[in-house]
Amino acid sequence: MRIDLHTHSLVSDGTDTPTQLVRKAAEAGLDVIALTDHDTFDGIREAKLAAERAGIDVLAGVEMSTQLNGNSVHLLGYGCDPHDHALLDELARVRVGRSDRVPAMVAKLSTLGLPLTVEDVLAQAGGASLGRPHVADAMVAKGYVATRDEAFAGYLHDGGLGYVDRYSTPLTTAIDLVHGAHGVVVLAHPWGRGRREDLPEAYLTELVFEHRLDGVEVDHPDHDDDTRAALRAFAESLGLLTTGSSDYHGLGKTRNPLGAHSTHADVHAEIVRRIRSRGGQP
Ligand code: AMP
Ligand code: FE
Ligand code: FE
Ligand code: ZN
Repeated sequence: MRIDLHTHSLVSDGTDTPTQLVRKAAEAGLDVIALTDHDTFDGIREAKLAAERAGIDVLAGVEMSTQLNGNSVHLLGYGCDPHDHALLDELARVRVGRSDRVPAMVAKLSTLGLPLTVEDVLAQAGGASLGRPHVADAMVAKGYVATRDEAFAGYLHDGGLGYVDRYSTPLTTAIDLVHGAHGVVVLAHPWGRGRREDLPEAYLTELVFEHRLDGVEVDHPDHDDDTRAALRAFAESLGLLTTGSSDYHGLGKTRNPLGAHSTHADVHAEIVRRIRSRGGQP
């Protein structure tokens, strides 16, 4: 079994439709993928239909944009009831926060000598869950930078010259919302990109005991070998599930090919078992 539990479609900031994503996953020899678009379930239905035809399994997921002490933390929710009102309301609030600051980011970039309009950004998003990646794509389209990565590195990273802050869900609220929707909670790339200081061992322990955190993503392109080894050992000492994934974004993150990392079949089975036992929808 080859299992990749973190992928994006163009419903958020990937570049494949959910159907294309599922077909590519089947071609890459994967047996299971989780679709985990940012702050939306909108691609799940299409992905499930495509999966039936392609002969693979799609696990319903979402990647929530949360914050802890002002620092961004991503959380993967698996098997949530997609009609849970409390969770849906919160996801909508986050999406509005992500998109409402686009005019301010465009204005900042324009004063930096990189004129851009909101329409330019909307043209890149095509109705997707709008955010910084689409601002980056608009900058690429204008020829200001060569790639999305360059746009983030030069301007759009947290605190960057073109960055504008936005609402995101407090981390512990997000964990409780996913559990309230009968889902399983796995922290996405918790120690990637210098985030380790934000989520030290003592705090992760608190999340396990006070919020019943289910697992952490260990094998992820943002974690180097040492980080993976340290996080795996710590997670196992706490009885946390450990997952692996590509965080595939299509052409949006060219260094994350489908199946770049994978999740052990026993861990996948345990995630599905927990979802079923909680009344969720894998
Ligand atoms: P936003 O939610 O609008 O603040 O945008 C954040 C999203 O941008 C994240 O969820 C990532 O998918 C994406 N992102 C962050 N850093 C980078 C980067 N260096 N390269 C490409 N995408 C990135
Ligand atoms: Fe993304
Ligand atoms: Fe993420
Ligand atoms: Zn992701």
